[in-house]
Amino acid sequence: VVSIKSARKSFGAVEVLRGISLEVACGEVVAVIGPSGGGKSTLLRCMTLLETLDAGGLSYGEVDVAVPGEGGTSVYAKGDVLKRARGRFGLVFQNYNLFPHFTVMRNIVDAPIRVQRRDRAEVERRAWELIERMGLAGCEDKVPCQLSGGQQQRVAIARALAMDPEVIFFDEPTSALDPELTAGVLRVIRGLAAEDMTMVVVTHEMDFAREVADRVVFMDGGVIVEEGPAEQVLDNPREGRTRAFLARIE
Ligand code: ATP
Ligand code: MG
Repeated sequence: VVSIKSARKSFGAVEVLRGISLEVACGEVVAVIGPSGGGKSTLLRCMTLLETLDAGGLSYGEVDVAVPGEGGTSVYAKGDVLKRARGRFGLVFQNYNLFPHFTVMRNIVDAPIRVQRRDRAEVERRAWELIERMGLAGCEDKVPCQLSGGQQQRVAIARALAMDPEVIFFDEPTSALDPELTAGVLRVIRGLAAEDMTMVVVTHEMDFAREVADRVVFMDGGVIVEEGPAEQVLDNPREGRTRAFLARIE
């Protein structure tokens, strides 16, 4: 579904991604874990075109977003290609990032109607389904500040799903939430995993990662230190750095 190859990214003199390659297959759930500052969010931001790579390649299916040019320097595709790639993924942030002055309904339907130019009636029908499914019935006319953090995050997930993405990226979707609100959001993500939604989830919830992830990727210092099946990386890590990290957060 998505593939990033030999990705490098620096901010000023600091190299934050130092040659990362990651391929996510259809239906796969990948959990990305690792210490603060390791480059997890930067990786997601590069994969979702919020940042551009300095070097390496990125593609969505047959759509090449960036290819390594001379010396590996990334050469990005033109606007219409980027637009096509943007239609293939959804993104859910730690802090929801909803439009504060839009209702729940409008937050969900705005991009499918305006950006994807889909039929309003069809998009709204789908939005009602998603509202129901996310446990948000009765909230459709509220604005984000009238909702709990957990509800806002479920709106953000509904908004991502309304685009019919092939893959959804989550960057610490529950780290701003209280434990009781976290449970509701994790339940929703678990449900998506059960339906074989392709997902990349940056998380500090190790129990959750163990349960839903087909593969766990441990990132530290801008590289993938270790990756493999959840049980192997979380319960039987090969690398000292992974063991040290897991011991620290337990
Ligand atoms: P956390 O677990 O705390 O979210 P992370 O693994 O997501 O950490 P990143 O947010 O990707 O880490 O940050 C990696 C490094 O890149 C950090 O040192 C950070 O200060 C730096 N960084 C990230 N974004 C920028 C930016 N826009 N400008 C300058 N430096 C940045
Ligand atoms: Mg981060």
